[in-house]
Amino acid sequence: MSAPFIREAIRDLRAYTLEPREAPVKLDQNESPYDFPPELKREVQARVAARAWNRYPDFETQRLRAAIALRHGLGEENVLAGNGSNELLLAAITTFVSGGTEVVIPVPSFALYEKLVTVAGGSVRRVPIDLASGVIPVDALLESCRGCDSAPVVIVCSPNNPTGGVIPRGGIERLLESGATVILDRAYGEFDDAERPPLHERLVVLSTFSKAWGIAGLRVGWLASTEETCREIRKVKLPYNMNVFSEEAAIVALENALLLDARVATIVAERERIARALASISGVRPFPSRANFIAFQTPLDAGVLFDDLLRAGVLVRNVSAYPGMQRCLRTGIGAPEENDRFIAALREALKERMS
Ligand code: PMP
Repeated sequence: MSAPFIREAIRDLRAYTLEPREAPVKLDQNESPYDFPPELKREVQARVAARAWNRYPDFETQRLRAAIALRHGLGEENVLAGNGSNELLLAAITTFVSGGTEVVIPVPSFALYEKLVTVAGGSVRRVPIDLASGVIPVDALLESCRGCDSAPVVIVCSPNNPTGGVIPRGGIERLLESGATVILDRAYGEFDDAERPPLHERLVVLSTFSKAWGIAGLRVGWLASTEETCREIRKVKLPYNMNVFSEEAAIVALENALLLDARVATIVAERERIARALASISGVRPFPSRANFIAFQTPLDAGVLFDDLLRAGVLVRNVSAYPGMQRCLRTGIGAPEENDRFIAALREALKERMS
C-alpha cells in the first residue's frame, strides 16, 4: 500500500512481530521458566486492592525507584522506571537521536534497536560480531565511530540477544572516552557476572524485570544514568507510564530478592549444562552464552528443525534470518525438565533427518 500521509521511513519498516504459537515447553522468548510465587502474587493483589484505583499512580514512581536504587547502590535521581525496558529504550533513543544522527550497532542484535532508530530519523551503522567468540567487538565499534560525521550513539546489548556474548571489561568506558553516547541494554545482565559500569552523563543503562525477575507479563523496566541525563529523558517519557499493579509487583519482587537470586543461579547452572549437552551432539555448534538462552547452528534447515521440535512439544526461536546466523535456532533456558525435553527432541530430530 502506498499511503503518502505515512512517513516514508515508517512505510519501509517491517513491524516487530512474533507468530503466536503454543507448546508445552516454551523456550522462544527468553522468559523466566518460573512463575511469580503464589504467595507473592497474593501479596501484590492485597496491596493493589488497598489502593484507590480511581486515582492516578504516583507521578514519579517514587517507591519503586527508591527500591531499585537501594538494591543497586544508586540514588533515586539516577533511576527512571518504565512499562518494560522497551519503553525506556524508546525514550532514550528519542532523547539522543534525531534526523541524521548516526547510530552504531553491533549485529546481529535485538531487532528493536534498528527500528526505533529508524523511526527517530537516525541512520544505522552495523558492525558485525564474530559469532565464534561472540565477543562485542569494541575496536571495530570505535573504528566505526571514527568514521561518523559527528559524535555517534552506540547501542550495545550485553549479554547480546540473540548471540549471547558480552562486551569485554572496560569496553563501555572506551566507547565513552571516544565521545560517543552509549545505550547499554542489560536485559540479560543478571545472568552474567559483569558489573554495571559507573554512571556517566553519556551512558544510559537499561534493565528489565522481564527476564531474571520473572514478571514479563507485568511490563517493568528501568534505566540508570546521571541525574541530569535522567532529567532530560524524563521529559520524553510519558507521564504516569507505570500502572499501580506493575509497580507493586516489582516492589514485592525486590523485597524478595533472595528467592529470585536463587532462581538465577539455577538458570545459570542449567545454561552451562545445556551448552555442554549441545556441544556433545554431532554437527551441533552452540555459541558461547552468558545469558538465559543459547543460540546454536546445525546442519539442517532452521525452519525444518524448528517444526520438528514444535511437533515434539518444544517451542524455540528461529534466528536464521539474522546476519551470519543461517541454520541457527535459539533456545531459552527453561526448568531442568524442560531443558531435558529440548535436548531429547533435538537429538531425535537430528537422528531422523541425518540418517
Ligand atoms: N532488550 C532485549 C535485548 C531483549 O531481548 C528484550 C526482550 N525480548 C527486551 C529488551 C525487552 O524488555 P522488556 O520486556 O523490559 O521491554
